[in-house]
Amino acid sequence: MSVETMVKTYLNYIDGEWVSASTNEVEPSINPAKKYEIVGYVQKSSKKDLDKAVAAAKKAKQQWRKLSGPARGEYLFKIANAMERRIDEIAETMTREMGKTFPEAKGETARGIAILRYYAGEGMRKVGDVIPSTDSEGLMFTTRVPLGVVGVITPWNFPVAIPIWKMAPALVFGNTVVFKPAQETAVTAAKVVECMDEAGLPSGVVNMVTGSGSVIGQGIVDHPDINGITFTGSNQVGKQIGQGALARGAKYQLEMGGKNPVIVLEDADLDLAVDATISGGLRSTGQKCTATSRVFVQSTVYDQFKENLLAKVKQIKVGDSMDPETWMGPLASEKQLQTVLSYIRKGIEEGATLLYGGRRLEERELKNGFFVEPTVFENVSPKMTIAQEEIFGPVLALIKVDTLEEALILANDVQYGLSASIFTKDIGSMLSFINEIEAGLVRINAESAGVELQAPFGGMKQSSSHSREQGQAAIEFFTAIKTVFVKA
Ligand code: NAP
Repeated sequence: MSVETMVKTYLNYIDGEWVSASTNEVEPSINPAKKYEIVGYVQKSSKKDLDKAVAAAKKAKQQWRKLSGPARGEYLFKIANAMERRIDEIAETMTREMGKTFPEAKGETARGIAILRYYAGEGMRKVGDVIPSTDSEGLMFTTRVPLGVVGVITPWNFPVAIPIWKMAPALVFGNTVVFKPAQETAVTAAKVVECMDEAGLPSGVVNMVTGSGSVIGQGIVDHPDINGITFTGSNQVGKQIGQGALARGAKYQLEMGGKNPVIVLEDADLDLAVDATISGGLRSTGQKCTATSRVFVQSTVYDQFKENLLAKVKQIKVGDSMDPETWMGPLASEKQLQTVLSYIRKGIEEGATLLYGGRRLEERELKNGFFVEPTVFENVSPKMTIAQEEIFGPVLALIKVDTLEEALILANDVQYGLSASIFTKDIGSMLSFINEIEAGLVRINAESAGVELQAPFGGMKQSSSHSREQGQAAIEFFTAIKTVFVKA
């Protein structure tokens, strides 16, 4: 049997059936650590396939919304159990499809399972308030109803956790779903949907259609029968989705990029700050929306911080993500590699000093993958491209500052406001940071990435729009409020 015939083809999931796209076209999903290895073939669907998925979700919503919250939650428990049985297989698929190391992929899958269980419990929570009426014979209260059909559009960098933290609340609050995963990680997405199928989710409640963003993603945005769109991805696509949704009056929620700062003050625990900067900036090869990218260090401890950081960065083992020795895997795609390398070139051209890294790794077997060295710049001035734009790769910019005030002004001088950290032991500095930093996720003596699943997640400025994801906050997007007045 040839290698090609052993590679599985993954289908769309529409109305409880696994079906081919109407185009009869498939695309290979490849391993970014070994670009000749095909992880699976995925459907390249058309608008016709999307229409079928939306029709199925629209039909299923009548019955699904009639179930009680706890009954819907029971399905989430079953999906979580199915995923738990297959956790190694799902994590390995993720590692081979997008290059995250196996322990990180397993951690992400475990988080997906925990999110499902958390939202299963949310099905039991009260969803309205009694509001005093001025009419003594009247009863006034609010209740919440599902939006209807929700379109879920997700990126490749968290191919399990992000779809689940959107679909779990969508489902438990009574919506049905049309899911369009990033085409680059559509095999991993299919494994998650297989678990939903195994859990016996009723037909049409979740539908998955794979294909390009410009056809299937845009089709979701424009579809008159989709009542809400939840998107995570780049700023550029997010803005386009927001405009499209607004134009036809659909509810939308956007989680986009970041340019996350870390501030290190002279009283900081430097070992902690160095470890958190490396973990926050370089884990997942820097491909996290909350990844640290700018590090503002007080001048009195700058040289020491730099020396300690470089000593540790130089020890980082880059390699195939399935190798247990590997700390940092490849970038997720050739496109991502070219983008990161072009930002590194831009940094050098604009006058920043390259302290370490900056090259594509091409030794031996690495030449068949999209590997780049962990990279550290200094002498980065605030208006340089690498200080302003999201790189989405393992690139840190060190910036020397004299005071916290200066650090705050520079840290806030970008279009984004997702996550931010400070390292200090001084309560006054912590409070100034909490009050003045323009970020939705504020972290003290902790790395910029890594918010717990029961807490609201989202940013300020151009990082996010509308209501928060995760935790109890998710109810805001996935339901509409009805204010009810009853006269006896
Ligand atoms: P992306 O290019 O914006 O793609 C995200 C999703 O949108 C993919 O499914 C993509 O489809 C789809 N899409 C592309 N064009 C579209 C269009 N015209 N209409 C509708 N959908 C469209 O982002 P990415 O490169 O996958 O992900 C990286 C970005 O995500 C980074 O900016 C990162 O900061 C951000 N992110 C943010 C968060 C957060 O919570 N704030 C979390 C993770 C990632 P295809 O890829 O299949 O074409």
